[in-house]
Amino acid sequence: MRNPKWHRDEIILALDLYFRLEPGQIHSRNPAIIELSKVLNKLPIHEERPDSVKFRNPNGVGLKLSNFLAIDQTYDGKGMQSYSKLDKLVFEGFENQKQRLAVLASNIKETVLNESLNNKLYAIGEETDDNLMMVNEGMVIYKLHKYYERNTKINNQKKAFHLKKYGQLDCEACDFNFHKTYGDLGKGYIECHHKTPLYKIGGESITTLDDLALVCSNCHRMIHREIDTVSVEDLRSIVGR
Ligand SMILES: [Zn+2]
Ligand SMILES: [Zn+2]
Repeated sequence: MRNPKWHRDEIILALDLYFRLEPGQIHSRNPAIIELSKVLNKLPIHEERPDSVKFRNPNGVGLKLSNFLAIDQTYDGKGMQSYSKLDKLVFEGFENQKQRLAVLASNIKETVLNESLNNKLYAIGEETDDNLMMVNEGMVIYKLHKYYERNTKINNQKKAFHLKKYGQLDCEACDFNFHKTYGDLGKGYIECHHKTPLYKIGGESITTLDDLALVCSNCHRMIHREIDTVSVEDLRSIVGR
């Protein structure tokens, strides 16, 4: 039984470690590699691990780092040629942005090592939209965003505040109003989008009313398709408001 292919988040963590090591330090007894193996086993990503003993064990992590040696033009030796297209893509995306990679990796780690938070992220299902597979900050951080948005208490406070102030719950991007369109069925319905850019989130934080925007389901979906780059304001101009 084969374990699942490496996810982009896992490659990000491995690559971050790769840039910190000398080629001679890439072996399964290196404490940093053993540590990464533990973190990878915690990631709330692959629910099915057919071979759980071998899943991202220090040996496998060492091999992944040797794959990077094969991609790395600055390395004279050979490395392991069996790298994936995604390994190469992620490598090329970050080889000149090591600082940014370090921030992404540390945000993912901080989130995953918070055990209670991490357990909640397991409950957030995978998205099928291909765009989301390539979210720059990775799937763990995207799931964290979704988790924040499922905080019913703050969402209800946001809606109540907005309703009191404006008397209605219009989408902040396209002005759609569920109550006007669907009558009583739509009364009080709108979704909350967490506006904090993904690169700024990691670990546990408290959501305030100002962090949230009220959006209809279509606009919310569209913002998430390009969540790294499209804001509520951008979407508003896209729909011509
Ligand atoms: Zn809308
Ligand atoms: Zn959202």
